[in-house]
Amino acid sequence: MVSKICESTMKKTPDMEKLIDTALHDRDCERRRAALDQLEDEETLLYIAEHDAVAYVRFAAVEKIGKEETLIWFLLHEKFNGIREQAVKKLEDQKTLCYLALHDTYYAVRRIAVEKIDDEKILIQVALSDEDKDCRAAAAKKIKDQKTLLYLMQHDTSSLIRFIAAKKVDDEETLKKAALHDEDEDIRYAAVRGLKDEKTLIHLALHDASDFVRQAAVEKIDNRDALFEAVLYDKDINVRMAAVEKLDDEELLIYITLNDMSIDVRRAAAQKLREESLVKTVLSKGDAQARRIAIEEITDEKTVREIGIKDSDPSVRIAAIHRISDADCLEKVLRFDCHNDCRKAALRRLVELSDRLTEKQKESIIRIAEQDAEALFKEAELCPECGGEVSEYEDTHYRMIPVGYDEYEYEPFIADCGKYCEECGERYSSRSDLDERIEEFKRMMME
Ligand SMILES: [Zn+2]
Repeated sequence: MVSKICESTMKKTPDMEKLIDTALHDRDCERRRAALDQLEDEETLLYIAEHDAVAYVRFAAVEKIGKEETLIWFLLHEKFNGIREQAVKKLEDQKTLCYLALHDTYYAVRRIAVEKIDDEKILIQVALSDEDKDCRAAAAKKIKDQKTLLYLMQHDTSSLIRFIAAKKVDDEETLKKAALHDEDEDIRYAAVRGLKDEKTLIHLALHDASDFVRQAAVEKIDNRDALFEAVLYDKDINVRMAAVEKLDDEELLIYITLNDMSIDVRRAAAQKLREESLVKTVLSKGDAQARRIAIEEITDEKTVREIGIKDSDPSVRIAAIHRISDADCLEKVLRFDCHNDCRKAALRRLVELSDRLTEKQKESIIRIAEQDAEALFKEAELCPECGGEVSEYEDTHYRMIPVGYDEYEYEPFIADCGKYCEECGERYSSRSDLDERIEEFKRMMME
């Protein structure tokens, strides 16, 4: 009954006195906020903006007043950082924004102010002297003055700002000098990004001591001889990859697919080859790794099936088996391949395709699997996913052992172990025993 009366009186308070009282004195800040939304009296609102105990209520009063001059006053007097950060986003007055960019004590307010001003002089001052790198970065992005940009490029302690500045420095000679002679690789890198002179870029692509400077230079050049040299002789994988990305010389790409030391570079090259080259050259001349990479790219199903059955190397057959979608062909491999891991890969693939199989096919596969369980469910020597080499892994976790009142020691235990593929990363846990694995296989097959 009492609450009902309260509600009805609340609803009926057009009474200003009551509203002001709530806005000023209610113990609940949400109710104070709601009340001030209905207030028009500027004096009261100003009082709230200055004196309310809660920052967002103070700001709500400022917003309600809706005058730029109040917002300015608020930004210059409010102590709570987070609320000034919100307030500065609404400010348009350039003069105050410039003042805040230089003098606000909170970096986020300075940064937002910097983003809203265009006064080059102030921007330069912030870029050269603000202690916060985000503020300096925001200023550097807007500065046009080449002298300042040059100074920032050479002297700022943050590589981000040196990079921002170097990207905007347009004096080719300065960039060239920095790219060739600066001791700091960050600066050389940034200078390379801005540099246009092909001759200098070629020199850097082939001779810079830093891998990522060479890579950045390779990404900018088109000179075939230089790209050839980079792809054939650079010791860094990423540089060679960057060069591969820029080349489309079929013969060279074949050579890289067949000969590069890194599987990633080989793969990048193979991905650019025509299917005809993959089938005719890589599959016939490549080593097992090259043939496996080729199989990943080849779309002709007949070729994939043929390799899955006939290749002399089990790891290549596995890579192909993984891409076969024909259940009869997979069942044939499951019955007749002489290598355990190939039969294992075929079984794995059949499980993946199980919702396309008939009940009869499923039963037949389960029968074969049970007869061949010893070989099919023991640990793989080759990755059944891609044919890659597998190594042991062991995951060590720690558990807390109480050793006294409120005292614990951490004891290591092996949470999981098994094998993982060095090439595709797939893991094969060996936690479960043979019977468990067979049961799991049947469950997945019948799902
Ligand atoms: Zn693998």
